[in-house]
Amino acid sequence: MGTRGREIVGMDVAQLLKLLNAAYASEWLAYYQYWLGAKLSKGPMKDAVDAELNLHATEEINHEVLLAERIIQLGGAPVPDPHDWFALSPCKYDAPTDPYVNVLLDQNIAGEQCAITTYKKLMDITKDKDMVTYNLALTILTQEVEHEEDLQSLKEDLALMLERGR
Ligand code: FE
Ligand code: FE
Ligand code: MG
Repeated sequence: MGTRGREIVGMDVAQLLKLLNAAYASEWLAYYQYWLGAKLSKGPMKDAVDAELNLHATEEINHEVLLAERIIQLGGAPVPDPHDWFALSPCKYDAPTDPYVNVLLDQNIAGEQCAITTYKKLMDITKDKDMVTYNLALTILTQEVEHEEDLQSLKEDLALMLERGR
């Protein structure tokens, strides 16, 4: 923990650590939902869907790394026990029990929309108070916005294919 780096945080660090750990827990669940979905998927455009789900899974891991590093910088500890991920996560885990591509896309779109809300809130709370976390939240938010759009445009392509292909 860097002492001066922590001193310049103009808000309650314990509260900030809670928010960061909640986002961290969410990212693990999002990662697993994507990763397993890509393994199980069935249906039209499966290869394109799998490629996107796998890429997003990797990008969610990156978010975990960024969050873990910031938590440690602030003198906290990333959630030590995965049992706590569900209780802490602001976004729900949607088990990919139906492998149809459209269902998987819908589940992950809902996850991304929740992630967008989470990082928007983190930005609102840290604005003018903790520039480092604000910047981190912006970096992640930018990617979640991209994720939502990627999945929604895949759904559009899927709908076009099913409609025009008959
Ligand atoms: Fe993420
Ligand atoms: Fe995402
Ligand atoms: Mg993408």
